[in-house]
Amino acid sequence: MVVGNLRHAQVTIDERAIFNNVAAEKQRLPKETDLFAVVKADGYGHGMVPVAQAAKKAGANGFCVALLDEALGLRQALLTEPILVLGITDPEYSNIAASMDISLAVGSREWLIQAKAVLAQTVPLRPLAVHLAVDSGMGRIGFTDLSEFLRAVHYIQTNSEYFDFEGVFTHFATADSEETAYFKQQSAKFNSFVAALDDRPRYVHVSNSATSLWHEACNGNMIRFGVALYGLNPSGDALKLPYTLQPALSLTSEIVFCKEIHAGDCVGYGATYTAKTDEWVGTVPIGYADGWLRRLQGFYVLVDGVRCEIVGRICMDQFMIRLPKAYPMGTKVTLVGEDGGQTIRLQDVADYSQTIHYELACILTNRLPRNYI
Ligand code: PLP
Repeated sequence: MVVGNLRHAQVTIDERAIFNNVAAEKQRLPKETDLFAVVKADGYGHGMVPVAQAAKKAGANGFCVALLDEALGLRQALLTEPILVLGITDPEYSNIAASMDISLAVGSREWLIQAKAVLAQTVPLRPLAVHLAVDSGMGRIGFTDLSEFLRAVHYIQTNSEYFDFEGVFTHFATADSEETAYFKQQSAKFNSFVAALDDRPRYVHVSNSATSLWHEACNGNMIRFGVALYGLNPSGDALKLPYTLQPALSLTSEIVFCKEIHAGDCVGYGATYTAKTDEWVGTVPIGYADGWLRRLQGFYVLVDGVRCEIVGRICMDQFMIRLPKAYPMGTKVTLVGEDGGQTIRLQDVADYSQTIHYELACILTNRLPRNYI
C-alpha cells in the first residue's frame, strides 16, 4: 500500500504512553508472572515493531501475535524474546516456527501428528514449543474434552525430540463484563484441566487485559496484555480501570479547503445535508478508505478546541465539517485525541459508530502514515 507521507493526515503514536501502560501493569504483577505484549494486527494498528520495542523497554518479557508471519516480522526486527502465535498455524510450517524459536498454540492431537510428520523431515535445531489451548467456553479453538487433552499431552511427552510442552492456556469470553458467572464457569473448567496434569508446563496463562485488570487472582505465571497496553479500557466504559491508562493513538489532519455556503445549499454524496443558514464548511482529507467510517456522518471533530459536526456523507478520501467561522488552509483538525482541553477518545468514535475501539484502531489503513513521538 502507498503510504501518504505527503498528505496532511496522520496517526500519531505516543511511545511513552505504551511504555507507561506496560510499566504500570508490570508493577502490579508478582515477579514470577511474565507479561507478553500482544502486538498482533500490526500492534492493533499502532505499528507492530515500534510497539513491541516500547513494550520491551518497559519490561515486557515476550510477545503474542496471531500469525506466524507476524512472529517472523518480530524476529526480522531482531526481537529475540519468546513469541507465542495465538492462532492455529498450518502444521506444514512447524519447522519454520521451531527453527525461529517461535511457540505455537495447538488445539488438537491431530495437529501434533501432522506437525511431527513435518518436523521429522529435517533435524530441527530444537523441539517445537507448543502451548495447548483449552476451550473452556470461548468456542473458538482448543480442547474441550479432558481425555483428549491428556492424550495430546502424552503424545507431546512421548515425542519430546519434536515437541516441548511449554504452555497451557485458555481465553475468556466475558472477562470485561460486570457479570462474572460465565467467567467463573470457564475458569473452573480450565483449572480442572490444569489439575489433571502430572507436571505443569513452564507457562500457565489465561489473562488478556481484562482478566489481568479485573481478575488478577487468576493470572497464572504469564499474561497476554493487549488492548490495555495501547491505553484503551477493554470494557469500553463498562468497568472502572484499577489505574489510569494512557491512550497512545491520536489521529489528526488539516483543513484543506474552506468556503461559505448558504441556506439551502447541500453537502456531499446524496445531498444528505442542507444548510439552514449561511455556514462555513471545511474539507478534511481523510475518508472511509483510511478507516474513517462512512457512518460517522453527524459525529464531530475538534478545530481550535471546538466541536465541529461532520456534515454530509464521508467520502472515500475526504469529509466535510461545519465550522463556526472561516479558518485558513492548514488549520489543525483532531479526529481522535486532545485539542484545546477537549478530547475525542477512540471509545467516543466507537460509541457513535456502534463498534468497539479495538476494531477502529485496526482498520486505520496504512495509507495514513504513523508518526512516533
Ligand atoms: N489472548 C488471546 C488468545 C487473544 O485472542 C487476545 C486478543 O484478541 C488477547 C489475548 C489480548 O486481548 P486484549 O487485547 O483484550 O488484552
